[in-house]
Amino acid sequence: MITINLDKVDLSLLSKKTLSETINDSIQSIPKLKMSSLKVLVDKELKINNGSKIVTYRIYNNGRIVKYIPKIVNKKLENKYKYVYFDKEGNKHVLGIFTIFKKPLYKGDKDKFVNLISLEEVPKYYKEGKYQYHFNVDSPRSYLNEQTLAGFFGAMFEVNYLDISCNGFSHNDGSSKPSRSHINGNNGDFKYLRKDKSLPCGKGTSLNIIKTPDSLDYERQNKWNDALYKFGWKSMLGWSYKIKGKTHYLNHITHKTKDHYHHLHVQGFEPLFKEIKE
Ligand SMILES: [Zn+2]
Repeated sequence: MITINLDKVDLSLLSKKTLSETINDSIQSIPKLKMSSLKVLVDKELKINNGSKIVTYRIYNNGRIVKYIPKIVNKKLENKYKYVYFDKEGNKHVLGIFTIFKKPLYKGDKDKFVNLISLEEVPKYYKEGKYQYHFNVDSPRSYLNEQTLAGFFGAMFEVNYLDISCNGFSHNDGSSKPSRSHINGNNGDFKYLRKDKSLPCGKGTSLNIIKTPDSLDYERQNKWNDALYKFGWKSMLGWSYKIKGKTHYLNHITHKTKDHYHHLHVQGFEPLFKEIKE
């Protein structure tokens, strides 16, 4: 049995359902933590939620994504979402508060909307202990949606690389010209990772696996593919590589797809997602 000390928390602000959901959520998210750490984390989480007046995305290291909607949202923060990441040790990393752009779902029903967020507003670098990321956006299609942004953060903290280059998701209306499939911030492209860990930007800087196969850091690339998969993108298009003359496909890629020898395409976004309303 798990006992949780709640005496420090003003429970009047939380409904019973929300409270149990919140605790359940916290427990499920940290299966490897000891019970003493669990109590600390749950206390911490309730404190975080208590009095929070901004919609918050909580990203957990086990791949779960929770959208937390407080009972009262501060009027000035109505078009802003906050993003936080919880690492394996139970530490919280505040990643920022970003503007959401509510747009009609592109090529979708007229009464349906999507909340888009630009990567241009997201800090390109973060470091706190061993948890870090560094990315650039090498495309005018800088918009992800509220959920894929959470997936992107989760995947970056899974690998802690400093050379992630995004070749684009969607435009600010959810369209994706010249691509057809990158609509509503769901699908995106990333440059292949290089052995020299450089982070180039600009036309012609994507690593071409056909031209310079030896530059591909397939070990790190496979981990990055795994991380993107874990945080929601269940389908990818890409290329192969050779070790001692033997062909291998990058993780989660089953075949070579035309024009994908210079970037990884991620799609089929289905994260472990839950929305909690206070
Ligand atoms: Zn693509």
